[in-house]
Amino acid sequence: MSAFRRLETASPSGKTVLVRVDFNVPMANGMVSDDTRLIRAVPTIKHLREAGAKIVLLSHFGRPGGKPDREMSLSQIVSALSKVLGLPVGFASDCVGSVAQAAIDAMVPGQVLLLENTRFHAGESKNDPELAGQMAALGDLFVSDAFSVVHRAHASNVGIASHLPGYAGLALERELDHLSQALGHPVQPVLAVVGGAKVSTKIDLLQNLVTQVDMLCVGGGMANTFLYALGHKVGTSLCEPDLSELARTIMQKAKDSGCEILLPKDVVVAKQFAAHAEHTTRLASAVRDDEMILDAGPVAVDALADAMDRAKTLIWNGPLGAFEMKPFDTATLEAARYAAKRTNAAKLISVAGGGDTVAALNLAGIADQFTFISTAGGAFLEWMEGKDLPGVACLST
Ligand code: AMP
Repeated sequence: MSAFRRLETASPSGKTVLVRVDFNVPMANGMVSDDTRLIRAVPTIKHLREAGAKIVLLSHFGRPGGKPDREMSLSQIVSALSKVLGLPVGFASDCVGSVAQAAIDAMVPGQVLLLENTRFHAGESKNDPELAGQMAALGDLFVSDAFSVVHRAHASNVGIASHLPGYAGLALERELDHLSQALGHPVQPVLAVVGGAKVSTKIDLLQNLVTQVDMLCVGGGMANTFLYALGHKVGTSLCEPDLSELARTIMQKAKDSGCEILLPKDVVVAKQFAAHAEHTTRLASAVRDDEMILDAGPVAVDALADAMDRAKTLIWNGPLGAFEMKPFDTATLEAARYAAKRTNAAKLISVAGGGDTVAALNLAGIADQFTFISTAGGAFLEWMEGKDLPGVACLST
């Protein structure tokens, strides 16, 4: 990850600062049902207020498909934002043009203005230079504080930064610092846990990790493809037989790079894909034709705990089983609790990310005990894949 400009090095005093935030918050009955993303933006807004800047917030909200849609108007979140900030928040019904400019002209330093959904313009997701130029014309400085969109080159991040000096906001800075501590300059040995449904969605991730980490635990449905590739029967399990060659290549690449691969030695099987389905634990080599693997077994969890004892850094994405259905959440929850215990004992730096992973850690009741949890699914995965993040590269020093 390239070095990026930090907010502390900016001089925002008396300037109009365009801040790209992620206010794509969940709604229920027209109200914000989870204000985590609003809270996350507070430190940067507070910093800019104290510096005496006019703060102009840009965000996407839902997928309106490049045209205005009242259902996805950010006007709906103004009162929740105002409550979180403890300040009045202005609103402009467009993110570019005379409406936005007039609202900014009416501000005094220290005030906060939210602009309408950037995705009401088709040029946003295409990083249209004209739209980016119109957005940039509204301000003097650009601050990016939305990690969830840094894997995309959109007008409201990469586009604006091509016109204005760009800095990472405090939430983005914290995220990037933790991620680079986990994979960029980690305390070794590093253990990666990659679970989830399918190998096909995580090919780049696995290929990158085997060259970067000391141990890779493959879990969840995707482990079935690896077991199949090793010649085991997987019955009616979720499996991608046409990817067995690729699984073998990944295992060979791991061997060449000195990365130890952990696959489950035992598994929990059932005949139905259903919560509380009748189930039994078997060796991974003894799955019957009418059985499906729905979780890792206790021996596999012990082996993963042992790997956590040997590791100093843990990076985790993806559950170890069909964790939405009890009792097939057991391996995921036990492993998560063990990682939290090692983290609490200051023996492990633990970083996790991705929607299902965060849900599983919450279910285990230990999400706040990990060193860092990234809630940005797509950006977290692309970072784990070793890809360049355009929304960070555009803030480079
Ligand atoms: P992903 O989005 O790729 O991280 O996959 C997460 C999904 O994988 C969750 O919905 C899990 O229920 C599912 N999953 C994990 N292990 C299994 C398994 N053995 N069989 C079927 N689904 C699984």
